[in-house]
Amino acid sequence: MLSKVVIANRGEIALRILRACRELGIKTVAVHSSADRELKHVRLADESVCIGPPPSANSYLNIPAVISAAELTDAIAIHPGYGFLSEHADFAEQVEKSGFVFIGPRSDTIRLMGDKVSAIKAMKEAGVPCVPGSDGVLDEDIDLHLRLAQDIGYPVIIKASGGGGGRGMRVVRSEETLASAISLTRSEAGAAFGNDQVYMEKYLENPRHIEFQVLADSYGNAIHLGERDCSIQRRHQKMIEEAPAPGLPSGRRDEIGERCAEACREISYRGAGTFEFLYENGEFYFIEMNTRLQVEHPVTELITGIDIVREQLRIAAGEPLSYSQKDIRIQGHAMECRINAEDPDSFLPSPGMISRYHAPGGPGVRVDTHIYSGYRVPPYYDSMIGKLISFSDSRKSAMARMRMALDEIIIDGIKTNIPLHKTLLNDSIFQKGSVNIHYLEKKLGMC
Ligand code: ADP
Repeated sequence: MLSKVVIANRGEIALRILRACRELGIKTVAVHSSADRELKHVRLADESVCIGPPPSANSYLNIPAVISAAELTDAIAIHPGYGFLSEHADFAEQVEKSGFVFIGPRSDTIRLMGDKVSAIKAMKEAGVPCVPGSDGVLDEDIDLHLRLAQDIGYPVIIKASGGGGGRGMRVVRSEETLASAISLTRSEAGAAFGNDQVYMEKYLENPRHIEFQVLADSYGNAIHLGERDCSIQRRHQKMIEEAPAPGLPSGRRDEIGERCAEACREISYRGAGTFEFLYENGEFYFIEMNTRLQVEHPVTELITGIDIVREQLRIAAGEPLSYSQKDIRIQGHAMECRINAEDPDSFLPSPGMISRYHAPGGPGVRVDTHIYSGYRVPPYYDSMIGKLISFSDSRKSAMARMRMALDEIIIDGIKTNIPLHKTLLNDSIFQKGSVNIHYLEKKLGMC
């Protein structure tokens, strides 16, 4: 096993990783900014290193500082968590060149899947269903683009190959606006991502977001752990996730899950990963792969009984997968509400001191959070302060447990989105299942 791991992240996921390491007897090093000395995992880690001032660019995104911390503490491996440097191919490469294990895929895989056009090409070749669209990046020939959009059928969407975080895309509903949309997306993408390549896809009007969790080791073994439905989103940010996806026939799960596992084998994928799809009228359309641990991994853990972070650590230590596909049994239903420190009406961040915190509990309730009474939420980072996860034998019961947990939890001193979660859990359409990705924004009157 790895004897010592640097946790290159903060907040709830850093604590989650620390717990997995401790269970396996792995020593931990917390690297943190000067604003994060009071984080729970920093207190619990065997060692901690302050790697810079509060802004992420100078701390959590500072590659030399993170690698120096690993050198300084004689660590063996670095776990990047999610966000920050987790999908940064150059970081993964430098980690390995410096003699450490990167807990994630090889850097060339991150690079391949980080560019959407090359990812789609690789997935098409591996037999994963993709959105109808251009064969690669768009060139300068507008007549060709007009013909292509005609063939695909309006509306189409122009997307930046290097885009991310829901930015760098534009929907086009008629041929009059196609040329200007392409040139605008190009120049925005050039400025934002340093890569002005764009491509075209059919725009799906009312899809659900369904993603598949995979695990692969270094010996060509790959399995899938079923899917998650993450359709409750605002501005492309997920808010509630659940597994399994309501109403998805198990035959479809097996079929698409197996194609994802097969794609992993073809690109020699290593570690945990997620294939994101849009799902409309019974069809799956691949949009991108996340080559890291996801925020919403706990719902999969609860329905499969598999500790995904422990598997990541085992795979990184060079061990083979502990499970084969036939060992995977999907049982019950799990749901996750992301708790954000924000105003539930304006969505403005609400940092500050948590004067009182009481965790909910009871059967089938899991709380992944780093907060405690007296903890001060800093204003510098993402507003997510924890995740409330419920599990039961049915969706109905998992929702009832989530409602109880939302009623029980007390977070005083700052504003949170808990009231919005309560509204959603009492929403009759959400309760029925299978809402599409626009549902929340429509409900909020945003579109
Ligand atoms: P990012 O990497 O920025 O998250 P994605 O390719 O995952 O970009 O797309 C983000 C979101 O944009 C999707 O979850 C979906 O809501 C919307 N989207 C992307 N492609 C399409 C499409 N072809 N049709 C409809 N919506 C799309």
